[in-house]
Amino acid sequence: MHETSLVQFTLNAVEHRAAGLGITRVKSIQLVTGELRGALPNLMQAAFRTLKRNRPIFEDAVLEMKVTPVILKCRDCGTEYQKEDFHDVRCPKCGITNFEIISGSELYIESFEGE
Ligand SMILES: [Zn+2]
Repeated sequence: MHETSLVQFTLNAVEHRAAGLGITRVKSIQLVTGELRGALPNLMQAAFRTLKRNRPIFEDAVLEMKVTPVILKCRDCGTEYQKEDFHDVRCPKCGITNFEIISGSELYIESFEGE
């Protein structure tokens, strides 16, 4: 469900921009999603295949996803660190949990191509 709404959002945004550029056939869409978004690539592709069916502009389009890793920055000591396990998000240097998210919550269309 989550992936379906993300893909829906993506297609609507691309269609809107494509219309403004006079593009009638979209060939590829490059989408950046942060790991924190929890969008699973295989479910995104499945949703994409389903949703593009009734939209001729996307008939030949492929969805390319770039998943950015989660990078946290400790507000106390400034260390930037990555976590595989989000149950433990303490700073590896000073052991406290006080961070800001540097990367991993992105969601944007980097580019798309068409004619
Ligand atoms: Zn720290």
